[in-house]
Amino acid sequence: MAAPAPAVADPKAKEVDCTRVKCVALTFDDGPGKYAGKLLDILKEHDAKATFFLEGQYVKSRPAYVKRMVKEGHAIGNHSYAHPDFTKSTAATIRSEIKKTNDAIKKAAGVEPKLLRPPYGMSDLQVQDVAVEFGMPIILWTGGSRDWESKNEEKIKKQTLSVAKGNSIVLMHDWVKQTVDAMPSIIKTLQRNGYHLVTVDDVIKHEELKPGDVFPLPEGWEQ
Ligand SMILES: [Zn+2]
Repeated sequence: MAAPAPAVADPKAKEVDCTRVKCVALTFDDGPGKYAGKLLDILKEHDAKATFFLEGQYVKSRPAYVKRMVKEGHAIGNHSYAHPDFTKSTAATIRSEIKKTNDAIKKAAGVEPKLLRPPYGMSDLQVQDVAVEFGMPIILWTGGSRDWESKNEEKIKKQTLSVAKGNSIVLMHDWVKQTVDAMPSIIKTLQRNGYHLVTVDDVIKHEELKPGDVFPLPEGWEQ
């Protein structure tokens, strides 16, 4: 006889089906930042997963964090090498920014990122074309913590919780100290409200995104 289903969700369960349970994907841009180690400790302690959109230049200077992110089940995305606005860059520059970052991540952690988040979330047809060459969909966010702006723990917590809804993708930064300080409280509140903290891959699993597709689609755009 099969064991009865547990009354509460098993936090150690590997597969989370975001069409059946409430999911939030917290995403951290521009890292690995100075506080990535502390953030990874907090995520581990609360059994939460996140997605890191990394900058190649910091992957190169802080490779140990990247290795740890992958080892601990977080997702890694490409956020360019040195953060230029891709909509003001040539195709050759965009290509080189993506390639150098993919190579650095591969070298640091042995994996190749499958998702692209262009700097500032700025994208256009040329950026989409280059993303197609790399086989990557473009992942933006459904809401932001505005942490880089407020740099205030209470405001970051309030703003993050206000945009963290079912299947949302929330933009944060692991170089903002107050973000990392606010994380234990943010995670505990979300989990208490029944949310599973998952990677972007879990949230987009049923979207059937193709390389070059932008998700979520900015207002007024057509895929
Ligand atoms: Zn950025």
